Parts: sequence; structure tokens; C-alpha cells
Amino acid sequence: MEERIYNFSAGPATLPLPALEAARKDLLNYQGIGMSVLEIRHRSQVFAEIIEKAQANLRHLLNVPDHYQILFFQGGASLQFSMVAMNFLRGSGKSADYILTGSWGNKAIKEAKKEGTVRVVWDGKEGNYHRIPEPSELDFYPDAAYVHATPNETIQGVEFSSPPDTGDVPLVCDMSSDFLSCPIDVEKYGIIYAGAQKNAGPAGVTLVILREDLLDRIPENLPSLLDYRTMVKGKSLYNTPPVFAIYFVMLVTRWLRDEIGGLEKMAVLNEGKAKTLYDVIDSSDGFYRGHAEPGSRSNMNVTWRLPSENLEKEFVRRAKEKGLDGLKGHRSVGGIRASIYNAMPVSGVESLREFMLEFRSENGS
Ligand code: PMP
Repeated sequence: MEERIYNFSAGPATLPLPALEAARKDLLNYQGIGMSVLEIRHRSQVFAEIIEKAQANLRHLLNVPDHYQILFFQGGASLQFSMVAMNFLRGSGKSADYILTGSWGNKAIKEAKKEGTVRVVWDGKEGNYHRIPEPSELDFYPDAAYVHATPNETIQGVEFSSPPDTGDVPLVCDMSSDFLSCPIDVEKYGIIYAGAQKNAGPAGVTLVILREDLLDRIPENLPSLLDYRTMVKGKSLYNTPPVFAIYFVMLVTRWLRDEIGGLEKMAVLNEGKAKTLYDVIDSSDGFYRGHAEPGSRSNMNVTWRLPSENLEKEFVRRAKEKGLDGLKGHRSVGGIRASIYNAMPVSGVESLREFMLEFRSENGS
């Protein structure tokens, strides 16, 4: 096999090697059926088993209660920005509360405003989204249709350590970049959605976990594919789903369950990986400057600056030469971003750590 590099990009992101190997093995002939998963009918028994396994793995890993549906959509997390608002804000006679901690939350708000009244209960813009709010800074409207949050902002690298308490108002979370990174209490959420392409699989499928009683609130006459009830009734098979992406989610969740040993173990690994990088930043005498405040730091996306843009460019270039790819930060924050999702091995983070130390000793004052 040609050597693989360490891919620190924010998504599509690196995938677990055992899942890639399983997919390669299955590619031409899935379990003796004489064809690949890329070719099978979505209404075949073989695929029914695959989608059921993917759901069962997710239910097991996240301990999803029976009154929550696990659904597969297309359209990315971006379509969920619209769907959440179309299904639960449009025609509700209520407003929706949004906590704004970064770029993706901003996009969610833009779409929600097309459907109804949005109240931004907290906006981290002043500090260029370098922290999450304290609970005391959040004052939710008790009659809001829902509260929306982005627990991990991929671009800024800020993460909630626990979900905000919204009382009886359903909490809707865009978990695209922290989904499956640690255990969560699903009962605290009304809706969780996540594009798969960071922690759950390849691009092309979006996971939605939805509390069933919310379905009664959906207005009539939404386009069928944009009405959550359609996917519930059709068991995510109303139309042709992204068959291969769902199959891959099954492989990744199987890896998490059987090889990692569940989300508690995954969380310990993720915390260790993140600490390795934050420790280098914190002990660099200001050569590396983290974007996020220490109490708001993400375990998935570590963001930092160097003393100059030229050094940042040089850092990215030299890192790539060493097989450490995808480290250029998003233009709205600048600098460097290391996305260290579940599938990034500890050895990848160790290599980055060594490179950071070496680069500093060569270029620091
Ligand atoms: N939300 C978050 C937190 C993201 O990181 C991203 C993608 N990077 C999106 C939403 C948009 O996802 P998609 O491209 O699947 O629409």
C-alpha cells in the first residue's frame, strides 16, 4: 500500500483505516452477493440490513431512547439549517432563539430568518467568536419554538462543554463537528443533526436524531422531502438514499463500537489528543497563540495563529512536506487549524506536536 499521510482537514476528513479497509474488501463483491454496495438496490434486503445496522450502532453508541428517530438525509447540514426552521418556525406563531458562537451558526440564522422571527440570544462577534457564553449570559424566551446552538464551531474551534439548559423549549443542535466525539445525553435535545463527513462517514449523508413528539408541530404542505415526517414514514427510504455513504456510516460506527469500545473511550482519546496540541500552544511563550479562550476550546478543531502570516504560510508548507496535510485555517480566522476528529490517530497528533516544536525552535525568537 502507498503510504498514507495525516489529514488534518475539517471535512471531508480522515476516516478510520479499518473502515476503509473493510470497504475496499467489500467493494467488488459485498458478502458474496456478486456486486458492490455501490450497485445494490436501496430496497433490497441487503441494504435494509445495512441501514438497520447503521441505526442500531448509532442507537447503541449514543444510547438513543426509543422515542427518538434516527434518520438519514441528503443536502448536508446546510439543508438542516432550512429544514429545522421550515418545520418548526414557519407558521408556528413563535420566534426561535439562536446562540451564535461562530460561522456555521451565522449561516443557520440566515436561513431561519427566511421562515420567521429569529432572536439572537447571544452573539460572540465582538471577540471574533473566541468563546462560548456563560450560562448566566443566556436568557431564553420561554415560549420560543426552539433554541438552536452549534456545540462545536468548526471554523473558530470553540466548543460547549455541556449543552445549554433550555428548560421545556426544544434544543436543536448542529452537531456536525462534534457528533460521536463524546457521550451525550440525547434526552436533553429535541433535534440533533450532523453532516457525516467529519466523525461519522464520508460526505453525502446527514444524520438527524429527532424526538418524535415534535413531529406533531410540523405545518402542512411542505415539500415532501423537506418534511421530517416523510423520512420517518419512509424509514429514510422515501426516495433513493445515499446508499454507499450510509453503508460507510455503518462501518465507522461499528469501528467506534467494537474497536474503540464506545464513546467514553473515544472521548478520553480525543481529550488526550487535543491536550497534546494545546499544551504546545500554551508553552510556546506566545509563538503560537490559540484563537479560542481556554475554557471554550474545541477538542475537534484546534485553531491558532503564528507571529506573522508569512510564518503561517511557511508552517503549512513545511508541514505538508512532512505528510501533515490540511492545516491551513479558514480565512475568517486565519492561521492554522488542526482538525483532529475521532479517526485522527494519536500518532498523527504526536507528529504534529513534534513538528510544532521543531518549527518554533527554528523560527522563534
Ligand atoms: N455546520 C458545521 C458545524 C460545519 O462544520 C459544517 C461544514 N463544515 C456545516 C454545518 C455545513 O455542512 P454541509 O457542508 O454538510 O452542509
